[in-house]
Amino acid sequence: MSHSPAGRFAPSPSADLHIGNVRTAVLTWLFARSTGRRFLVRVEDLDDRTFPEVAQRQLDDLAAVGLTWDEPPEYQASHEDHYLAVVDELTERGLTFECFCSRKDILQAPRAPHAPEGAYPGTCRDLSDNERAQRRAAGRPPAIRLRSDTAEYTVTDLLHGTYTGVVDDFVLRRGDNVPAYNLAVVVDDAAQGIDQVVRGDDLLPSSPRQAYLAALLGYSQPVYAHVPLVLNADGKRLAKRDGAVTVSEIGAESALAQIAASLGYTATTLDGMLAEFDPSQLPRDAWIFRP
Ligand code: GLU
Repeated sequence: MSHSPAGRFAPSPSADLHIGNVRTAVLTWLFARSTGRRFLVRVEDLDDRTFPEVAQRQLDDLAAVGLTWDEPPEYQASHEDHYLAVVDELTERGLTFECFCSRKDILQAPRAPHAPEGAYPGTCRDLSDNERAQRRAAGRPPAIRLRSDTAEYTVTDLLHGTYTGVVDDFVLRRGDNVPAYNLAVVVDDAAQGIDQVVRGDDLLPSSPRQAYLAALLGYSQPVYAHVPLVLNADGKRLAKRDGAVTVSEIGAESALAQIAASLGYTATTLDGMLAEFDPSQLPRDAWIFRP
């Protein structure tokens, strides 16, 4: 597998791409192409709420707006053995523990006074062998969590500068044995030579966890660019109920032209946008889309 530098777009095929997703894809492509990187597409289909026919429509929509990628798309579902081998490696290094908590257990657990919002409260981190055996016997299959030795980690983001965020004992493998998003993304980015991660800024808070895990695994740190999302007129995430929001509803040419205009370009083609591309001039606020 080639390791020349690359950027990527990594959609989850749970629903058709809306214009906001396509705008992120276009930015991902612009960041990669303008810096001489390869551009890859990765289908993040580990979750059982994802569908092969949706993945195919997503790829068709990306192609319809003119995006090109340099290798056939990778499908995460075909890498499960690799993810689980990495979890095993971390376990052998003493860097994981079994967690028997339900979502409710986690929400109801007492938190240390200064523990960050939403962070795992540490309930199962130091169970004795006996306690663990009891929990196993009770029948709930355990998730595997990372035994993190830091509370936070700092990443570099081309739009947000230096960003420091929470690193808790996050899940690596879910109780149903499915590799967790944070693990899969880190393993694949390293395996595919991704050194530039461009994606929606809703994922900025996940980046310290991912960068910390990459460091533990000896992978190099990607540079990040978390780009503004597209919202509806109420300031909420764009969704199907907002009307005509997908590429097939809007039409590929019109979708691309509206994306270009939203980014402040006079060009309406990808090559024209590439010629005008300047990351320092990108809008920093969400784009409000009215179908
Ligand atoms: N699959 C994730 C999503 O659709 C994006 C993952 C990433 O870019 O790191 O939101």
